Amino acid sequence: MKIIVKRRHFNHPWIFSNEIIKKENITPGSIVLVEEQRKIIGTGFYNPHSLIAIRLFSYTEEKFDHDFLLKNLKSAWTKRSGMGNSYRLVASECDGLPGLIIDKYNAYFVIQINCLGMEQYKEVIKEILIDEFKAQGIYEKSDEGLRKREGLDVANSIIFGEIPDLVEIEQDGLRFLVDIKNGQKTGFFFDQRENRKMAKELAKGEILDCFCYTGGFSIYVGNKGSVLGIDSSEGAIALAKKNAEINNLKCSFECAEVFKTLREFAKAGRRFDTIILDPPSFTKSKKEKRDALRGYKEINLSAMKILNPDGLLFTGSCSYHISRQEFLEILQTSAQDAHKQFQIIKEGMQSKDHPVLLNFPESNYLKSFCLRVLD
Ligand code: SAH
Repeated sequence: MKIIVKRRHFNHPWIFSNEIIKKENITPGSIVLVEEQRKIIGTGFYNPHSLIAIRLFSYTEEKFDHDFLLKNLKSAWTKRSGMGNSYRLVASECDGLPGLIIDKYNAYFVIQINCLGMEQYKEVIKEILIDEFKAQGIYEKSDEGLRKREGLDVANSIIFGEIPDLVEIEQDGLRFLVDIKNGQKTGFFFDQRENRKMAKELAKGEILDCFCYTGGFSIYVGNKGSVLGIDSSEGAIALAKKNAEINNLKCSFECAEVFKTLREFAKAGRRFDTIILDPPSFTKSKKEKRDALRGYKEINLSAMKILNPDGLLFTGSCSYHISRQEFLEILQTSAQDAHKQFQIIKEGMQSKDHPVLLNFPESNYLKSFCLRVLD
């Protein structure tokens, strides 16, 4: 099947419905060959019910079958060599496999399929994970919102073998227990690995880890000072405590709302030498952007106010609707309102198991800065 398009962005893996000029009667989920001005620009999955009408898996004419999947999965795996036993094995478009996310937790795998075309290859993917990657268990956890837009049902179950209630993984010599079945997203936020290392290198003194989840940052900085982690999820806090225990660290964790807690700390005159802010994506769409900007401003301003002289702020945004420049502007106005001057000590991004495609700016979503107060 062939589709003629006129694209706005060169080499971008998504083709939007309004970029399609001519198409035959094509079944949703089919594989299509895409042409622009009589030149083949790639092969992809077609779904007329989605705003992203075509997701390219190749930039030439190519078949999508068992061998193609095996080749790309092996290639993704090779690119992660040296990352230990647990990481994001497949980051969809950025690994040439649109709509497919696979996280590897030791011998257990979590897969997420967010595109109708890819959905049809679930059994093949499963087979490869079992035969080639020696999976002991596979859990399918597919995001409700994204699947709905593609006309797919929610999926949340074991699709092969067994999944223990808690799976232990290793990250840079530290141990983490992951609750694959009940945890948030796919269970663990691998994308912050490099930024956690950055925090480990520099953190000091009284350390406050806001939005700590199961202790990702807290455990990395656990022996650099006295750590307090806060998160609104009771389940996450319970697991963070266990994670500190298995790493022989003395960290404190409290179940609390961050916005409110930061205001209370300011009122009570409580101060910290290091503050980590790793909030959830406050915006999933452009529409919510104004509220999100307000949210980022509030937590950054509050954190800046309660930093000790020479204190460090590790702050980030994982929303791709907010650009690096916009995020920097939030930090600048927050610093101005806090009446403090800051140096940018380091800048980070998502770790390399979440690669960024140069011509796919949407894939570059995580922005991270380490600031130091100048007094
Ligand atoms: N820093 C973590 C990941 C953070 S994910 C790590 O390194 O693993 C975002 C977390 O923010 C989630 O655990 C969620 O429960 C928490 N959260 C969301 N809104 C919150 C709020 N208003 N107050 C406190 N925690 C919140």
